Amino acid sequence: MPEPVYDLAIIGGGVNGCGVARDATGRGLSVYLCEQGDLASGASSAATKLIHGGLRYLEYGEFRLVREALSERETLWRIAPHLVRPLRLVLPHHQGLRPAWLLRLGLFLYDHLGRRKLLPPTATLDLKRDPAGTPLKRGSFAVGFEFSDCWVDDARLVVLNALDAHVAGARIETRTKALAAERAAGRWRLTVADTRDGTARTILARALVNAAGPWVEDVEARLPARPSRDRLRLVQGSHIVTRKLFDHGRAYILQNADKRVMFAIPYEGDFTLVGATELDYAGDPAKAAASPAEIDYLCAAASEYFAQAVTREDVVWTFSGVRPLYDDGASAASAATRDYMLEFDDDGPPLITIFGGKITTYRRLAEHVLDKLEPAFPLIAMRRGWTASAPLPGGAFPPTELKAQVEALKLRHPFLSEDEALRLTRAYGLRADEVLGEARERPALGRDFGAGLSEREVDYLIRTEWAECAEDVVSRRTKFGLRLTADEIAALDRFIAGRLAASGRGVSAQRTSA
Ligand SMILES: Cc1cc2nc3c(=O)[nH]c(=O)nc-3n(C[C@H](O)[C@H](O)[C@H](O)COP(=O)(O)OP(=O)(O)OC[C@H]3O[C@@H](n4cnc5c(N)ncnc54)[C@H](O)[C@@H]3O)c2cc1C
Repeated sequence: MPEPVYDLAIIGGGVNGCGVARDATGRGLSVYLCEQGDLASGASSAATKLIHGGLRYLEYGEFRLVREALSERETLWRIAPHLVRPLRLVLPHHQGLRPAWLLRLGLFLYDHLGRRKLLPPTATLDLKRDPAGTPLKRGSFAVGFEFSDCWVDDARLVVLNALDAHVAGARIETRTKALAAERAAGRWRLTVADTRDGTARTILARALVNAAGPWVEDVEARLPARPSRDRLRLVQGSHIVTRKLFDHGRAYILQNADKRVMFAIPYEGDFTLVGATELDYAGDPAKAAASPAEIDYLCAAASEYFAQAVTREDVVWTFSGVRPLYDDGASAASAATRDYMLEFDDDGPPLITIFGGKITTYRRLAEHVLDKLEPAFPLIAMRRGWTASAPLPGGAFPPTELKAQVEALKLRHPFLSEDEALRLTRAYGLRADEVLGEARERPALGRDFGAGLSEREVDYLIRTEWAECAEDVVSRRTKFGLRLTADEIAALDRFIAGRLAASGRGVSAQRTSA
């Protein structure tokens, strides 16, 4: 059968590519998306995962970005009440760093710049009495401020955008690399190759979006018109995951003497996520890994605040990613703009190239991309702004009803513990029943790969969420990698390879490391 001519082809299955795919299908476009590895295998699984205005960006005068990002907190919470959760952040006042009046001013702006209906406002904390002061160094931090942001499982946000686009008709191909593209006879001819076996094909499309994140200029070099200067600044960021550093559910935002800020966030129940570093990066973004110096930097920065020093022995996992920032000429990596930039080339069928952007602003970025493309499709009556209210898969319930959903899941599957029901509800929302089927007893879930990861869940991830190897499952679709042994992960890999071979999809040639 000949390939159809798609309205839109997208290169890159990170949060921006998948967000554009979702918005475009909902506006009535036929969409093709190729991702060279797994969905969210680039920057979009390596974030601190905050849905935030970015208090620090106020210092750089990024008011447009902060206002848009602040408004997105509640929008994303409403459309993904399972994945997105409100988070209170505690900012201890550090004598000798930013003065208290400056922090108060910043937080006043933070409270008033963006829309906020459900999230509570800033409060001042007496850290000598408040439990948030307990894990901190005694006598060092008397006053703190507490404010609201949200937090999200970044990789799952990407997958749910891809899934929604797919359900609405988009063709999503993972392990498929864009090799070249040219304009011919009023269309884009995109050459893609299956990275499992090398087979190449041509995809025809009326418009093209380059959403390759840190690889955006690598993809650009494969396109006809090459711009005269580089506009991309690669900034590496690493995180450490430690044993739990504190027991309450709030997070900390910690100022460092070098003016940078970092976060310590409750993570996956038993752990704390600490990060991130900011270092200019050159080389292949896929090879970014936390260096010993970065690990030491993060341990030292956390130890400046917590009563119990954080050491390398506390670190159970690290991950690293590369921010694809627009190069605005700032000298320090931490000062480079976090805002996104879209380049529009309509010298023939349109091309949009995406620079920068954050997890927080992916939905607004996608809206801007589609608004720019709209004139190229005069015959399609586009539904603008629809993604602000349409729930992502599994998310059709009010943000305040997460607990009720957990209880309802336990009633339908009485063998689930509280923690299991919460994890499944957070990951799959109303689709958790699709994962568990009719199971009323644990054996109905099939094999246990360790720590409660069941055969039924793995089958669901293969069937519905493009999982093709253990790494996809334990590092991105779930975080079971924190709990499984190397042998258990290897057994899971063999199981998935067997499932794919039995279904004729073959074994993925691509394996990425955590
Ligand atoms: C350390 C760190 C912390 C961060 N913290 C936050 C945060 O707390 N909050 C927040 O809002 N944002 C945060 N961000 C920013 C955010 O993660 C990124 O801006 C965002 O994920 C970029 O998404 P993207 O889709 O543009 O890029 P990516 O996620 O990298 O996606 C691009 C995709 O394109 C694919 N690709 C590349 N070349 C090709 C090709 N030739 N063919 C097919 N596919 C290709 C890649 O494999 C990749 O999956 C953070 C980023 C980092 C690195």
